[in-house]
Order: sequence, then structure tokens, then C-alpha cells
Amino acid sequence: MTDIHAHRLARVQAALAASDASSLLVTTPANVRWLSGFTTPEDARVLVTKDAALLVTDGRYIAQAEQESQLETVITRDWINLLQERTDPATLGIEADHVTVATLTEMTDKLGLAPKPTRGLVTDLRLIKDAAELDSIRAAAALTDRAFEHALTVLKPGVREIDVALAIEHFVRSEGGDGMAFEIIVASGPRSAMPHGVASTRVIEAGELVTIDMGARVAGYCADMTRTVGVGQVSDAHRALFEAVLESQIASLAAVGPDKATKDVDAVARDILTGHGLGEAFAHSLGHGVGLDIHEAPGLSPRSEDVLKPGMVVTIEPGAYHPGDAGVRVEDLAVVTEEGHEVLSHSPKTWRTVGDA
Ligand code: ZN
Ligand code: ZN
Repeated sequence: MTDIHAHRLARVQAALAASDASSLLVTTPANVRWLSGFTTPEDARVLVTKDAALLVTDGRYIAQAEQESQLETVITRDWINLLQERTDPATLGIEADHVTVATLTEMTDKLGLAPKPTRGLVTDLRLIKDAAELDSIRAAAALTDRAFEHALTVLKPGVREIDVALAIEHFVRSEGGDGMAFEIIVASGPRSAMPHGVASTRVIEAGELVTIDMGARVAGYCADMTRTVGVGQVSDAHRALFEAVLESQIASLAAVGPDKATKDVDAVARDILTGHGLGEAFAHSLGHGVGLDIHEAPGLSPRSEDVLKPGMVVTIEPGAYHPGDAGVRVEDLAVVTEEGHEVLSHSPKTWRTVGDA
């Protein structure tokens, strides 16, 4: 077991000791991967007890588990039986945010009593990224930057959104990334007003705004970045929309630092956009944590009670959207440090146009 995995396990066991459970069945895929290093966590689970941890998977993964697992591995499909052998079912914890009603019913029937629901025992520990995790996120962000530059060589009038997305995905995979962290958004013209406008077959035209939101995945870890660019000459109104969002993004990113309440960081962005008459047009939260999952804690929104701590990785992504007309979003990935923050996205974010005739 690597030192990092031993440290992670020790922290989970300490959290377990402080809870009313004496063992924990970990099923959330990101938590399974974080604890074990196993790269197909959807088909595995980790059983943590006071003094041991087991990766439990099935016969399809014998060779893979041998190569990857940092934990002792048990190959069985009858994992409920294993729980009976290795734990006291009366104090067995499960991850309430992940276990389905069907699985809970099956466990309760076979164990003869209901396991204890727990929340956040592992997930909360993943909020602060360790050095190995930051290395992977940095690599994912760097690959995202390079893929974006490649996308701009493809983006021009007459090209479809999907062609830009395919160029990005091809680049990321051929450069050694695992793939994309989420479905690529390429939203052009009026579709740019859709914050989640995944790439369609729409043909991009001169004079339009195009929003590209993308992230490579490297060693399981996600990156996340958005840029809006102009295709040729855009209207003054659309350019002004861009500058307002950029101003909001720069100011709110500058506010990221240790012990900052995320709702206060969100307010910095929201107040600037409101000052430009765009308060209503900023129809989502400012950002989110990023790690093995593309959307993790902390949340950065007016409703969040989360507080930033060194080692958290977050996005800062204000946007403004005028349905039927156009939209803009600018998003960077940053890690909170002891002094403030370090920006991990390095693609230029001031106004850019492509495809000038
Ligand atoms: Zn994004
Ligand atoms: Zn994001």
C-alpha cells in the first residue's frame, strides 16, 4: 500500500471510530477508487473495519485488481455473505447517499437487521486534496488548456458544434487522458444562452458567440474550464455581455482564499453582474468542488454554508444568459492555498475571436 493510501485509510478509520458504526461498507464509486486505487469502482466496494480494509469485486477483475488495488482483494459476488463473516451487522454502516432502496432491502433481509445509514464519513475527507490528487488535477487542467487551443484551430464559420467537440475529445484521448470529465458543451449563437447546451449538429456562423465548457480526465481526476469566444465580428451588445461576465469572474476568483465563506465569494460575482443589470441573467451558482467527481462539495452559491479551506479545488464560473439571443460564461479551476489560491486553468480569458476573414 502506498503511504498516501495508508494515510487515507487511517483517516477513514478515525472517522469510523468517532461514529456509532464499527465498520463501513463503501459503495460510492469515487470513494471506492480513492481508498483502493481500483479504476472500475462502479463494480467494486470497500469494506473498512477497525483494523482492516478489503476491496470486494468479482471474477471479471481478478487481473485488474491484482495490478491496481492498494487493499487486500476478495473476489466474490456474494458480498453480503462476506459482511456476515467479517463484521458485526448490528454496527455496520452504509453510505446513505449512495445505497439504493433495493440494495438496502436485500441487505436487511439477508443480515436480519438494517445497517446503519452514515453520511460523509469518506466523502468529507475527499474535500481536501492531497499531493497526489493535486498532481492529477493539475495534469487534467493542463491537458484541458491544450485541448482548448486545439479546438480554436477547428472552430470557424461553417463548422458544426459537434465537430469542435469531437476534435477536443480526440485530442484528449490521443494525448493520454482517460477521456472527458463530462459531456462537452459547445453552444453557439442562440444556443449559447443554454448553460448546459451540449454540442449539437448546429452549424456555427460568423458573428456568433460560442461557449465551450470542457474538462479532461487524467488518472480519474477531472478538470473543468469554460471560455466564450467570438466567431469573427460580434455585436457590441454581445461583446459588452462578455466583458461584464469577465469582470465578475476576475473579481470573484480574486476573492477565493482560506476561510472564505463560499456564499460571500458568490456574492462578489453576483453583485457585479447585478450592477450591469444582469442579476437575473446569472441563473446558476458560482461554482463547485472538483476531484474524482466533476461536481463535488464545496458548493459556491448564495445558499451554501460551506467555507473554503486550503487544498480544496473549486471552479469559479459566473455566466449571463439571454434566452433566444446569446450567453457567456467564463470558468477557471483553482486550488485554495494557505495564502489565497492558485489558478490551474491557464488558457487566456480576455476577449478572443476566431475565424476572422
Ligand atoms: Zn464547466
Ligand atoms: Zn463547472
